[in-house]
Amino acid sequence: MSDWSDDAARDLMSLGGRLAMLTRGEGSWVWDADENRYLDFLGGIAVNCLGHAHPVFVDAVSRQAATLSHVSNYFASPAQLEIAARLKRLAGTGEQGRVYLANSGAEANETAIKLSRLHGARFAETEGSARTTILVVEGAFHGRTMGTLSLTPKAAYRDPFQPAVPDVVTVERSVESLEAAFASHAVAAMIVEPIQGEAGVVELPAGFLARARELATENDALLILDEVQTGSGRTGEWFAFQREGITPDAVTVAKSIGAGFPLGALITFGAASDLFYPGTHNSTFGGNPLASAVANAVLGHIESAHLLENVTARGAQLRDAVTSLPLVDAMSGAGLLIGIHLTAPVAADVRAAAHERGLIVNAPTADVIRIAPAYTIGDEEVDEFVSRFSAALAAVAETLQAQNATTPTEASA
Ligand SMILES: *Cc1c(COP(=O)(O)O)cnc(C)c1O
Repeated sequence: MSDWSDDAARDLMSLGGRLAMLTRGEGSWVWDADENRYLDFLGGIAVNCLGHAHPVFVDAVSRQAATLSHVSNYFASPAQLEIAARLKRLAGTGEQGRVYLANSGAEANETAIKLSRLHGARFAETEGSARTTILVVEGAFHGRTMGTLSLTPKAAYRDPFQPAVPDVVTVERSVESLEAAFASHAVAAMIVEPIQGEAGVVELPAGFLARARELATENDALLILDEVQTGSGRTGEWFAFQREGITPDAVTVAKSIGAGFPLGALITFGAASDLFYPGTHNSTFGGNPLASAVANAVLGHIESAHLLENVTARGAQLRDAVTSLPLVDAMSGAGLLIGIHLTAPVAADVRAAAHERGLIVNAPTADVIRIAPAYTIGDEEVDEFVSRFSAALAAVAETLQAQNATTPTEASA
């Protein structure tokens, strides 16, 4: 056995995780330091959309690294202009859209917060003061930096770091709560995930996003979608908002966009494209030729290989196969972002049982297992997943039954 965990405990910041030491990957498979093989259905948390070591990814990194990697934002590069134009096209912004390139989801969302402030400042003259209120949704996750943490209502994440950025108002997941919030606040922007990945792949109620769009428009507020997890094709559309038939004022992406290369973006629509001006924002690494070239290659391959069709088809296939397994209560999500809701709060046990059986999934909450496999999976991966996952569920179900048999119930006591 490799004794990597002592080194990790001594040298890495103590932040949890580190379930195994992984040393290499190929397609949907990864290997640990002891040569155990795992089927990776978490994909680096919805990141590795082409799996591991995909030739398109390897080739893009190698070729661009051998050409030009970094130039700073004093300069443009062909790869940067190409990814900006591509994101505008895929998001359907039309001519008026603009793209800001960042290095992560949190950074893209930080940029969205600053966009809200610039928009809110426009009301200083007409309304007597700038609008600073940002609406977020209960259960939201937008990142771990101070700004994005402030948008994340979960107390456990936020409380150790108070004071947070002020004037963030949390809306419940209901149209009534949404309407009440717009009625009682001068809203600068609403920032919302179309599907809440970290909350356990929680879908918004029907009509919620459409109503948010209407209310934002009526109140001259920005509707900003955090598609860091749902964007770049994860749900079977390029962006989840395209399933809802709405157009946001801005959308953020990260995770899958670089298939493992760190990269994020804020894409603006319409008038929101004119808010930033020189001097108001930038990043040393953001939009560097290397990250841009990789994102172009990744998104270009998703398009040319028609992988979005595979995302939709495999998502449906997985849903059908998993629904009837033991301990499974309900399914949520879209495409290849799937929440498997369990009948008991045993998601941590199921995750561990899956790991023991060479399967990587995760447990964002006590009763939800999340899977976010590569867009490239085929029958073989689906079959392997179902066989390993059902074995893990059966093992946990058996333990639960044994516990229930030995613990006297109230009726028998
Ligand atoms: C992962 C995630 C983030 C944070 O992205 P990082 O790249 O980890 O900073 C923000 N929003 C959503 C919806 C996410 O899933």
